[in-house]
Amino acid sequence: NFADVDLLVVGAGFYGATIAERVANELQKNVLLIDRRNHIGGNAYSEFDSETGIEVHRYGAHLFHTPNELVWNYLNQFTAFTDYKHRVYSTHRDQVYSMPINLGTISQFFNRRLSPDQARALIADQAAEMAGRHPANMEEKAISLIGRPLYEAFIRGYTAKQWQTDPRDLPEHIITRLPVRYTFDNRYFNDKYEGLPVDGYTAIFERMLKHSRIQIALGVDFFSLKSTLPAGLPIIYTGPIDRYFDYSEGELGWRTIDFEKETLNTGDFQGMAVMNYADETIPYTRILEFRHFNPERSYQTEKTVVVREYSRSAKRVDEPYYPIDTRRDKEIFLRYRERAEAEANVHFGGRLGTYRYLDMHQAIGAALKAFDSRIVPHFTEGRAIGGER
Ligand code: FAD
Ligand code: UDP
Repeated sequence: NFADVDLLVVGAGFYGATIAERVANELQKNVLLIDRRNHIGGNAYSEFDSETGIEVHRYGAHLFHTPNELVWNYLNQFTAFTDYKHRVYSTHRDQVYSMPINLGTISQFFNRRLSPDQARALIADQAAEMAGRHPANMEEKAISLIGRPLYEAFIRGYTAKQWQTDPRDLPEHIITRLPVRYTFDNRYFNDKYEGLPVDGYTAIFERMLKHSRIQIALGVDFFSLKSTLPAGLPIIYTGPIDRYFDYSEGELGWRTIDFEKETLNTGDFQGMAVMNYADETIPYTRILEFRHFNPERSYQTEKTVVVREYSRSAKRVDEPYYPIDTRRDKEIFLRYRERAEAEANVHFGGRLGTYRYLDMHQAIGAALKAFDSRIVPHFTEGRAIGGER
């Protein structure tokens, strides 16, 4: 019975939860929030492992970071953050290096002490094959940034494992996410704000969604409900956009990850939270050890939880995690976007709904923007929630 529902939100990840929270608190409208999974939180969901008590992010390591003060202040209404700062190391041929590539990585790799200027000159020399050329793909972009030897050691194998796509067919923006530094700064992110939620990720969602006007239905698939919805009910859809149109314009390429979880009888397996494996001879891309995300907690010291990540291209039954975004994907996506513009009652949002590689802060930021530009005008002026403007 949808008689009291003012807005249907499909997907209880950060995009859907932010919209639901704003609509209930700011507009006093009734929201029905559904998710086909049996939990809220989307891919940011985490749980405390029953055997060890260690918080495990079920869908891979989630590090919160943002340059956006508005998003930071918004989320701080629902959680405090620890002062965790992410650092990553990468194993290549049985040696451990700092990742992202910094002066330490470069000096260690070339086995000599280098000043920042010397390192810049060395890399410029090694990137000479790209001089004066505009990088047309991920491989060329990486070589222009770090030269061929470092690319082949740390990027090519890892990227091939992670994307199962030739780096020459990948968009260059994937690699620009990773900074290259001519200092010894080994922080993974450059953003002003960074930390992990003190009580875990799921608690954020519980607090955001605790409102008498928000009704949550879990284990409910939108497509088994669609034909029963009242005509004109406004919908926020954060599922895969190709699925919404029944794949009629073709299937968009996604990458999924198989997470292999293991509890080990040691208090410390690898000494830090994330170890990347650069070599193609090792089938997984990285190992996560969750206890290290929360050094402030007094976890037991007899056991530890590790997760190995294996990446592969997604089939329809798999969880779609990362848009691959090849040229073909871009063309297909444009056709879906045109069709989405004809859906006046449906607003498409989030990582899956817009086929975009969004971090959590970007998903929240985009939802806050859509609230102002689409949802408020809908409820106050009667304008369409979706469709073309
Ligand atoms: P999601 O969280 O994916 O939520 C969408 C929800 O819609 C899902 O719960 C899904 O079950 C539901 N849904 C889909 N179809 C239907 C349907 N038909 N009916 C009902 N419900 C449906 N971001 C960071 O900022 N830092 C990180 O370190 C980070 N690491 C990541 C690691 C991995 C492995 C992955 C996959 C993502 C990572 N992210 C990270 C990104 C982060 O997960 C996303 O930014 C965030 O989840 C986006 O929120 P969303 O609401 O758009 O999508
Ligand atoms: N990357 C790499 N080697 C590494 C880490 C990252 O080649 O050790 C590349 C890889 O293509 C990856 C991209 O850089 O997809 C962005 O890295 P990030 O850690 O942001 O990727 P995510 O884990 O979020 O997919």
